Amino acid sequence: MKPCHSCQAVIDEYILDKQLESLRDLTVDDFNICADCATIVADACVECGGGVYVPQNKSDTPDYCPACRSDLIDRTGHDPGWNCDIASP
Ligand SMILES: [Zn+2]
Ligand SMILES: [Zn+2]
Repeated sequence: MKPCHSCQAVIDEYILDKQLESLRDLTVDDFNICADCATIVADACVECGGGVYVPQNKSDTPDYCPACRSDLIDRTGHDPGWNCDIASP
């Protein structure tokens, strides 16, 4: 059992896995935070339409899921952050 990086509580993998269902390919191991510290918003990623993870210190809903964010870092070499800053049409 691993402690949560954010609040140090022991991670309940069962509960967190249920929350992470909308985040494809991500597991408890990618997060190292407990269910209390993860907020998942389904269908919010602008790239893949998957769920996004909202870091607890952010009040905005991110535009990118963690997988697409790391994809973009790989492709463009820079970190777009959680939100895309494309001006709305
Ligand atoms: Zn926690
Ligand atoms: Zn995505």
